[in-house]
Amino acid sequence: MAILEGFACGPFQTNAYLLACSDTQKGVFIDPAPESCDLLTRAATGYEMEAILLTHSHWDHIADVKKLKRSFALPLYVHPADSENVRTPGSDGLPLLIPVEGVEPDHDLVDGQILEVGELRLRVIHTPGHSPGGVCFYLEKEKILISGDTLFKGSIGNLSFPTADPSAMWKSLKKLEELPPETRVYSGHGPSTSIGVESWLPQAKELFS
Ligand SMILES: [Zn+2]
Ligand SMILES: [Zn+2]
Repeated sequence: MAILEGFACGPFQTNAYLLACSDTQKGVFIDPAPESCDLLTRAATGYEMEAILLTHSHWDHIADVKKLKRSFALPLYVHPADSENVRTPGSDGLPLLIPVEGVEPDHDLVDGQILEVGELRLRVIHTPGHSPGGVCFYLEKEKILISGDTLFKGSIGNLSFPTADPSAMWKSLKKLEELPPETRVYSGHGPSTSIGVESWLPQAKELFS
């Protein structure tokens, strides 16, 4: 079974997550938002943490990566199209509201790749649009999608950022629309939802362009 704990942190209340396998107690951190390090560290008690995963590299999703890496020395995974902003935060053109330390990513995330966390299988779905290296993590068996800033309850990620590409976003949302309706969606900001509840997905382009 999957254990998923979310913490809304920092000026944009970015959701940082701890995802763990209840059978093996192995876990990963996802999107260490500003001021999430202490909360994630406490939540990780009793788990064997294996990696830090990023849904994308906007500063509010990576701000505490460096701090977390100091305590846990874990490998960092990001899609290569977003890796430069992890090395040099702010190089993506988004103004940093707080200082963010750069980190060298350790591994690329690739579309279709399966990441194993104990008994859990996370499929990487490349979902560019909000950011070129945006990805979602899909746990098919557990019917969980960690959607980053691609899909929110009732909305989608900001398409006015310098990293945005609306036409890529419509294609990415098509991929999510095809997931089973009962799939629970855990977003980069705000409350969780499900694919079925977001029944507007097929009309996303008309609604948001
Ligand atoms: Zn973002
Ligand atoms: Zn965000």
